[in-house]
Amino acid sequence: MEQFVKMCREIGAMPDYVQGGGGNASCKTDGNIMAIKASGFALKDITETSGYVNVDYLKIKEYHKDVSESEKKKREEEASAFNLKCTIPSADGKTLRPSVETGFHSIMKKYVMHTHPVYTNVLTCAQGGKKKAKEIFEGTCFVWAPYMNPGFMLTLAISDAISKFEKKNGEYPKVIFLENHGLVTTSDDPDECLRLHIKTNETIKSKLGLSDFYQDLKLQKAGDGYKSSAPFIGEFLSKYGMNTMMSMALYPDQLVYLYNGLKDGKISFENGTMFFKTGENEARAILETFAAVVYIIESLHKLNIPVHPMHYIARDFINNWESEKYRRKVTAK
Ligand SMILES: [Zn+2]
Repeated sequence: MEQFVKMCREIGAMPDYVQGGGGNASCKTDGNIMAIKASGFALKDITETSGYVNVDYLKIKEYHKDVSESEKKKREEEASAFNLKCTIPSADGKTLRPSVETGFHSIMKKYVMHTHPVYTNVLTCAQGGKKKAKEIFEGTCFVWAPYMNPGFMLTLAISDAISKFEKKNGEYPKVIFLENHGLVTTSDDPDECLRLHIKTNETIKSKLGLSDFYQDLKLQKAGDGYKSSAPFIGEFLSKYGMNTMMSMALYPDQLVYLYNGLKDGKISFENGTMFFKTGENEARAILETFAAVVYIIESLHKLNIPVHPMHYIARDFINNWESEKYRRKVTAK
């Protein structure tokens, strides 16, 4: 547990890897128990006694095994309720909701780290990203999972990609790229899990010649909300405008934090300053997500590689997804 907490806090403190409550991590402790980040909580806030939930991961793993075609739709709808049923209440009787990605954590090695790093996402949100990943990571132990709705269907897609890799190479992949989403690393050794996570991103950053992530993500109090005048905001708006950004969704968290924030009137812009009619946590999550999306668009633009956006059906799914509404609600608290 101690190493798990260390891993979460180290990665969770890096806004180029984790924006707001995004990303999740898990650790299989004893027998059938897996500790996984609770939905809506931030990785950096995990301690030995809070921010995570214990689940019976063997039951969850079983739920995703040998699912018939006709059964898929029904299970997709019921998966988060099923995961919740598999939680083991903590000593104080509190039940938090396990991360929406509990499914894919259940099928992996002892330690799992999943984030939405800006460097990896330059690849996963690029046209021809899979081919580029193959060029960069030729000969290493990785798989590329096609975009799927988060939760149940994504778990099936990852499970399928892993089985194919194992059959072909005789070993379990340790690095998993998720198209239009992010990165997963897994290992029975917590140091390897953490090291691979950072090394994968640094390799992409250096091979593609990407610049450093924005350092100036500061918030200031403004009325009963917050504001930020970080220079990248004004530069992005004058170059592309918000309509460009919102007409293409790169990955789910862009929709969760930005699309909804704009729609609810929680986010507004004036002369290159971004205003948030929210509490501090939510403002930070929105600002970091905005910065990540801007970074990816800018990097691809500089590389002259077209963006590979999410399909509109995938987009509609996220906008209407109950699990994401729950996550936003917890972040807003
Ligand atoms: Zn994710």
